[in-house]
Amino acid sequence: MKEDSQISNAKQDDMEHIRVAVRQLCAKYGEDYWLNMDRSSGYPSDFVAELTTSGFLGVLIPEEYGGSGLGVVEASVVMEEICRSGAHAGVCHAQMYVMGSVLRHGSEAQKRHYLPKIAKGELRLQSFGVTEPTTGSDTTSLKTTARKVGDKYVINGQKVWISRIEHSDLMVLLARTTDLDKVAKKTEGLSTFLIDVKAAEGNGLDIRPIESMINHHSCELFFDDLEIPAENLLGEEGKGFKVILDGMNAERVLIAAECVGDGRYFIDKASAYATERVVFNRPIGANQGVQFPIARAYTQVEAAALMVEKAAQMFDLGLPCGAEANMAKMLASEASWAAGDVCMQTHGGFAFAKEYHIERKFRETRLYQIAPISTNLILSYVAEHVLDMPRSY
Ligand SMILES: Cc1cc2nc3c(=O)[nH]c(=O)nc-3n(C[C@H](O)[C@H](O)[C@H](O)COP(=O)(O)OP(=O)(O)OC[C@H]3O[C@@H](n4cnc5c(N)ncnc54)[C@H](O)[C@@H]3O)c2cc1C
Repeated sequence: MKEDSQISNAKQDDMEHIRVAVRQLCAKYGEDYWLNMDRSSGYPSDFVAELTTSGFLGVLIPEEYGGSGLGVVEASVVMEEICRSGAHAGVCHAQMYVMGSVLRHGSEAQKRHYLPKIAKGELRLQSFGVTEPTTGSDTTSLKTTARKVGDKYVINGQKVWISRIEHSDLMVLLARTTDLDKVAKKTEGLSTFLIDVKAAEGNGLDIRPIESMINHHSCELFFDDLEIPAENLLGEEGKGFKVILDGMNAERVLIAAECVGDGRYFIDKASAYATERVVFNRPIGANQGVQFPIARAYTQVEAAALMVEKAAQMFDLGLPCGAEANMAKMLASEASWAAGDVCMQTHGGFAFAKEYHIERKFRETRLYQIAPISTNLILSYVAEHVLDMPRSY
């Protein structure tokens, strides 16, 4: 494992090229651009389009389907740099990992139909519908149903916090196809579907935006006898939980990489401000009470980055990496939050002025201790699956 996981010099060079190119692209969309998006709850269509046409959002799509055929290691660099630039990767990150469900579980016909269009930016697959208002983290208890009627599935139920759906052509939906009391295990009887959002809206799907703390364009969804073609089943009927689970490790690693980017953004800002801001006739950063917390937060971010890199490499090598992906997400989300807190403290009152951008990033990075999975659920995973302790729920 040790030798396999070492990143070769050639790969390091490739990653550096990606890093520089993403940085250059992001530099065209400065922090005021993101401040305006946040203020207006706007969607950065031009940024997402450029990211797609430049090939960065399609790094994980194999070359035969029009993508770059790279791995999560490279995809992590893309996400990290977006966040480090002050941008908000939450507007587009799902395209990378939701696409993986089609790649790993779609039929050849689905892959040929969807993946090249996603790679080119002709179709956006940025939305996944899992969470429900009454069941939350207890995913396998979800209540949305999909019943097969002839050559269609009929969907009924409700979802909450479904992000970017208004800016997405497709959504991957998780619904129950066999009732809970008729399956041996709770994880059975769930299925995943590709939903054509534009065709569904107003024809059995009602989409209602949720006013929220961050600009994730999250919505409530109401399904009332929505009919979809049976061929939109993704993977095998009843095995949808595996489709979702298989995507989760990549999702966690990519989100963790975003947190590393956020953390580095906060450290850059805090150390620069501590050096230039003069109070009591000297830079505030000359005080250990100001510089030590920044140095500590930096140390935490860099430690988390190592776990992110390890999890990404294991994922790309096809090794089981549930524990590493979860630990990377937890460590990185805590480190970015700690760095954000220090950055706020270092800026004193100016931290609260929107033009300094810190409070926006502070809100954005807070999400990742809750979504896509909360820290407690990660701790229970590690306790049960790594440390062999009893299941706690
Ligand atoms: C901005 C935003 C965007 C989102 N985007 C999407 C999306 O695109 N698609 C989607 O499907 N979902 C999305 N989500 C939902 C997100 O994944 C959930 O909010 C998250 O999984 C937690 O579920 P919950 O909010 O129902 O919390 P709950 O499950 O109600 O949990 C509340 C708290 O209780 C704790 N808790 C619950 N059970 C236990 C236990 N057994 N032991 C210890 N602690 C426990 C949790 O850790 C958490 O801190 C989004 C959420 C937000 C806020």
